[in-house]
Amino acid sequence: GDVHYLAKTLVVVSVYLVQIVQEWRTDVMMVTPWLAPIVWDGSFNIDILNAQFHQRGVRIGLTVFAIKKYTVFLKIFIETAEKYFMVGHKVCYYVFTDRPQDIPSFSLGEGRTLNVIEVTSYKRWQDVTMRRMQIISENCLKRFIYEVDYLVCSDVDMMFAGHHGVEMLSDVFAAIHPGFFQASRKQFTHERRPESQGYIPEDEGDYYYTGCYFGGKVEEVYKVANFCHHAMMADKAKNMEALWHDESYLNRYFLYYKPTKLLSPEYVWNNYYGSPVYVKIKRFLHVDKDFEKIRSN
Ligand code: UDP
Ligand code: MN
Repeated sequence: GDVHYLAKTLVVVSVYLVQIVQEWRTDVMMVTPWLAPIVWDGSFNIDILNAQFHQRGVRIGLTVFAIKKYTVFLKIFIETAEKYFMVGHKVCYYVFTDRPQDIPSFSLGEGRTLNVIEVTSYKRWQDVTMRRMQIISENCLKRFIYEVDYLVCSDVDMMFAGHHGVEMLSDVFAAIHPGFFQASRKQFTHERRPESQGYIPEDEGDYYYTGCYFGGKVEEVYKVANFCHHAMMADKAKNMEALWHDESYLNRYFLYYKPTKLLSPEYVWNNYYGSPVYVKIKRFLHVDKDFEKIRSN
């Protein structure tokens, strides 16, 4: 009867509340001053989120560039993505490369596909990394908009080591660079020359975001990539290049068009920064590389 139903509902509600209270973290900032969530371990219930995103039948694209010698990183990247990236959802990998013959075939989980897209390469590694913005923005209009709802854009010299699920997704999201989570604004390595399109004044800048990992809805990623590409081109015309290349322009964009969600450094960890207590799980790791060797033509 009614009493039984009421009792059952109370039990369900209280279990749910206890869970939320237990998971709330006080050791890290979980929301930005503009009220965007910062995703930390313990800040979300994946079952609730999975149910919401399954209801919408959401499709997620993962873009990754493997140009020249960087094709060596792809195997571990895709193999670990199969284990941890958006498992149970529709996933479309977009691999951009100048060496399609060097891309191995992968056995993918159900609902997951991989597209290899041939692109031209550039001589300087800085141009290779920056031109990703142009290629991403062009492909947003050409195909992404027709094929996926969200895009996640990643470096290739990375391996997944823990859950990356729909908790990441939002209109536009950025990840806090693992080297700058506890840094003060003054320490952020933003572009400081006012002549550059990547310029951020000393007294501005909310976080220092990594250029390795960002995303959002296709139309939002288009705006990000299109801005960054044109900013780079404007600088190039003046024979300038921002300090940290695409990362600098990305930081400039996010200063004035703030992300609607932030990923904690759990999502882009680098073991170079050790194991601070607040990082309870390292979900994504930079793979060691010999910079000189891998970037030589
Ligand atoms: N990249 C590439 N080939 C190159 C240089 C760069 O494919 O010769 C791509 C690749 O996806 C790489 C990204 O650009 O992960 C950024 O470059 P890198 O990882 O070297 O920059 P870092 O993370 O060391 O700043
Ligand atoms: Mn990298």
